[in-house]
Amino acid sequence: MNVLVINAGSSSLKYQLMNPETGDVSAKGLCERIGIDGRLTHKTADKKVEKEIPMPTHAEAIKAVMDILVDANDGVIKSVEEIDAVGHRVVHGGMEFSDSCIINEEVIAGIKKCIPLGPLHNPANLLGIEACQKAMPTTPQVAVFDTAFHMTMPAKAYRYAIPTEYYENDSIRRYGFHGTSHKYVARRAAALTGKTEFKMVNCHLGNGSSMSAIKDGKSVDTTMGLSPLAGVPMGTRSGDIDACIVQFICNKYGMSVDEALNVLNKKSGVLGLSDGKSSDFRDLEAGAAEGNEACKLALEKFYYEVAKYVGAYAAALNGIDVLTFTAGVGENGITTRKAVCEYLSFMGVKIDDEKNNVRGKETLISTPDSAVQVWVIPTNEELMIAQDTAELVNAAK
Ligand code: AMP
Repeated sequence: MNVLVINAGSSSLKYQLMNPETGDVSAKGLCERIGIDGRLTHKTADKKVEKEIPMPTHAEAIKAVMDILVDANDGVIKSVEEIDAVGHRVVHGGMEFSDSCIINEEVIAGIKKCIPLGPLHNPANLLGIEACQKAMPTTPQVAVFDTAFHMTMPAKAYRYAIPTEYYENDSIRRYGFHGTSHKYVARRAAALTGKTEFKMVNCHLGNGSSMSAIKDGKSVDTTMGLSPLAGVPMGTRSGDIDACIVQFICNKYGMSVDEALNVLNKKSGVLGLSDGKSSDFRDLEAGAAEGNEACKLALEKFYYEVAKYVGAYAAALNGIDVLTFTAGVGENGITTRKAVCEYLSFMGVKIDDEKNNVRGKETLISTPDSAVQVWVIPTNEELMIAQDTAELVNAAK
């Protein structure tokens, strides 16, 4: 089976053509500068092709993807009919979607209904869906939501302690994101440990970071909230802060709420704490090694907040069996994993420095006598999207 996985942003569109059973990717690529001029980067096992192609809208971007996939020299399939299904990443499923689903008019209406909750992402995701529907009108399309995995959270985790009317009238609650990644890692953790009933915390630490408390494969809490701004500090996002800081900044600097939120989304996190040095952990580690105090503080704050959430979730779950690290920093950040795990020695977490000396490979990094198994599990959101897509499409046959 061939599933085309699409992740459409406002001016970019990523794609992967993959076999959901084996995880083999036959081609992947990126359309950039949609609405400006248009550039396609396409990779296969033995080739990388870059082309300037006019892409006034997402429709031309999808057409460019279709054309190159079937191209005699650079393509990997003979005709578009060889694409059995398309899986779309959709960021916000609100309270409408607690699972992936085959796209029909009702689903499109549901995604539109969630636009106020995901104003930056959902409209772009819809553009990707509409373009694919036009290009492949008979091919089944599936929506896979970033929020869906967290819809199993209990009310005490997802409700904010604000008046009920904001929840009932406006759906203001914790949703959480990176759900596809958390779900993938939870499944891999089950397969790797041979456990089905177990309690874990997954640390998805990348440019955007979120953590999830997971019981028997289901999310019971997560750090991001109504939006991806909440939780641990990130590359450029502040993570949790006192909401009064927004009021203070607006009053002091004459900013609008949108401008203040731009500061919290784009100029904060480890970038802000490192005095603007970098949002990239490799730069921060290099800066800290040279004695830069701001870089050191940015890293220390990050380790501290991640460890604090593991502790909080261990309390929420009444203990954990497994701790997993994934995404750019989680998979590659040897120092980050060591620093976080040192905080957790009180709960019997022990890692083996040699085993921890690993990047981007499924590895058990805890010692045999550690009270908690600690794993590095590289995430694969595209594979999870492809597998959800295949499962739904096969079930509907
Ligand atoms: P992601 O958003 O999951 O792609 O993660 C991106 C982040 O991973 C980058 O901003 C880096 O900070 C981090 N990263 C990638 N490679 C390394 C590495 N070798 N050591 C530490 N951090 C890394």
